[in-house]
Amino acid sequence: MTIPFDPRLQLIGGAWRASVSGQTLPLTNPSDGSALAEIGRGQAADIAAAVSAAQCALDGEWGGLTAAERGRILMKMSAITLERADELARLEALDVGKPLKQGRADAVALARYLEFYGGAADKVHGETIPFAKGYTALTLREPHGVTGHIVPWNYPMQIIGRSVGAALAMGNACVLKPAEEACLSALAFGQIALQAGLPAGALNIVCGLGEEAGAALSAHPGVAHLSFTGSVAVGRLIQAAAALNTIPVTLELGGKSPQIVFADADLDAALPFLVNAGIQNAGQTCSAASRILVERSVFDEVRRRMAERYAALRVGPALEDPDVGPLISARQREIVQGYLALAASSGLVIAAQATLPAGLPAGGCYVAPTLLAPCAPEHRLAQEEIFGPVQVMIPFDGENHGEAQALRIANGTAYGLVAGVWTRDGGRALRMARGLRCGQVFINNYGAGGGVELPFGGVRHSGHGREKGFEALYGFSSLKTVAIKHD
Ligand code: NAP
Ligand code: MG
Repeated sequence: MTIPFDPRLQLIGGAWRASVSGQTLPLTNPSDGSALAEIGRGQAADIAAAVSAAQCALDGEWGGLTAAERGRILMKMSAITLERADELARLEALDVGKPLKQGRADAVALARYLEFYGGAADKVHGETIPFAKGYTALTLREPHGVTGHIVPWNYPMQIIGRSVGAALAMGNACVLKPAEEACLSALAFGQIALQAGLPAGALNIVCGLGEEAGAALSAHPGVAHLSFTGSVAVGRLIQAAAALNTIPVTLELGGKSPQIVFADADLDAALPFLVNAGIQNAGQTCSAASRILVERSVFDEVRRRMAERYAALRVGPALEDPDVGPLISARQREIVQGYLALAASSGLVIAAQATLPAGLPAGGCYVAPTLLAPCAPEHRLAQEEIFGPVQVMIPFDGENHGEAQALRIANGTAYGLVAGVWTRDGGRALRMARGLRCGQVFINNYGAGGGVELPFGGVRHSGHGREKGFEALYGFSSLKTVAIKHD
């Protein structure tokens, strides 16, 4: 497949331009290690041009549109995204090694975000406030201004949809910095925006290295809000940069999310979720269910049944649409292999491992999906985000079916993003939902099919602020109070 645009060009002020330095960065296909293309190496000068183009858009055509007009453009972007879903899935397969079906699901999710936020654009409004005699007091919801969006490589389309989609709906002008390992779908999104008639400068896209283009964006004084998705370490840098400009920041960081299985659970229903939520996107998912907590009386049964599913997993090149593709890069594969070596040296038992088929391309970044069981809750493999297809199982028991112990273990990491609870006992489900320290709890499911309507975000090291759902629209706007004295 040829790439239907020149990926060395960046979108600034409605035009495709080479980076100011003229430098490029190589892209690699993680399924076989081959050279794929080159992208522009945007740096501070490109970011400055993008921020200035965004400000011009706010002062010009984009800033003059009504909310309904903005919404219609987002709807049009949604329709074009759907039309191009197969092409987007192929680009993502080449660029980040995502199996075709999973990439297509991302494209459909991007379209759904644009539809949701397009439909919501003219439904966010302020209030009137009962106040002192002789006054009318009201609130206005206004855009922040220029918003910066720093996106990782694992779900580029979905993360662009939820952050840029909501920001545009509220009338902000965006500067998007995709991960240098995942720029192609972001650039295609820029094409889609122009095709749909998004005014020049409302969306600007600068590719480049995190420590160059990303750092320049997060430090730029013309940016009024930052939305970052990625690692805890970089999230801290972003928050520090935002502090220097005293601007709000939304951080969506990683997780070590548990699924908690009680003995009374419908195991037939739970089993696919227990495995899929760990190996989807080769485990490179912030909300991956990397810890499976199981009540001791059913631990062996769940382990056996998960192992059967692991044995059936197909690993392969992304364009062959396997269950599990390669990891994003050789570097990421080394990190995951380091964790597997640590598991081996500390005596963790491999309860199941998928086989890597003979004949996989030698340059591909493959890791065999691995289930480790049992694992102590304080072990590094049960505490640290691995970001690969590796799950650990942890037994729990005690009074009241081990509820208290399950909660202690579930809440016993630095993270708090997502949790799943499997039980047929309604009271237990609600007690667990209240006791879990995280941003989303799923009862008798995990992820609710992605639900763009459902606010998403973390606590503690998983970050703060909420994206997705209607809630995101409040984060991407600023509230102004107007008090009018009239007699
Ligand atoms: P990362 O290194 O934090 O990168 C995320 C983004 O930040 C990329 O666009 C990156 O650009 C950029 N960046 C890197 N250094 C920067 C700097 N000094 N200043 C400004 N921007 C900078 O994370 P990653 O390795 O791509 O992704 C893996 C991690 O992200 C995992 O820990 C995972 O949990 C987390 N994550 C969380 C979520 C969530 O929704 N909570 C979603 C996805 C991933 P370059 O890549 O071009 O350097
Ligand atoms: Mg790549």
